Amino acid sequence: MAVDPQEASANPALPQSLNRYSYVLNSPTRFTDPTGEIVDLSNLDEAQQGQLLQGLEAFTGNQYEVDENGHLQLVATGESGSDIATSFLSDLISSEAKFSVQASLTGHNRANIATGSIEMNFDSFVGARFPRGVDSRTFNLGSTFVHEMYHVYSGELDHENGVIRYTTDWTGPVVDFVNTIRKERGFAIRSSYIGVYSGNRKYQLVNFVDPNRPRRTRKVKRLIDR
Ligand SMILES: [Zn+2]
Repeated sequence: MAVDPQEASANPALPQSLNRYSYVLNSPTRFTDPTGEIVDLSNLDEAQQGQLLQGLEAFTGNQYEVDENGHLQLVATGESGSDIATSFLSDLISSEAKFSVQASLTGHNRANIATGSIEMNFDSFVGARFPRGVDSRTFNLGSTFVHEMYHVYSGELDHENGVIRYTTDWTGPVVDFVNTIRKERGFAIRSSYIGVYSGNRKYQLVNFVDPNRPRRTRKVKRLIDR
């Protein structure tokens, strides 16, 4: 089943410099893929692969690469990288299932739990003016990847009893999981699943809360149509 037709998420990240990473090449059994199970990125073109790697780095604080077979691999964990993200993505890469990523044809970010595949809209994100000026689109690619992959890995839906609550005080299990990584990283926390349409339904506004200003909700803008 496809989930997340109205998915959106966003936020800040960090600059990139290699010396902030502790390389894990000397513990290859933990971070490579000896059994051949994979997160397959070969359906993405080179530019999309590069954008996704940047997004994962911005969101998780760790460094990833695409190997010669088009499969995702962890290269290094960052000093301020997320342990939860490292653990989750390593589980994904070494699990017995095969997961795959493709660019969205519909413009939506969504997951297909039955096939273990996700679709990502590489053009979608526009808004996000959080502190520590980072590229919101790059950040969003990382958080969207983790969100959609958590769907296919865990089998969890955003729905409760098949119904999404159209309220601004409900997030759901998948947003909650992604928020644990945001908390670890000191990023703003997504505080609602449902976004509100604006701009003649061209945009969707999703609520985030800055951890340093917990009483202040910020709306993050996402472009719906290309
Ligand atoms: Zn979702």
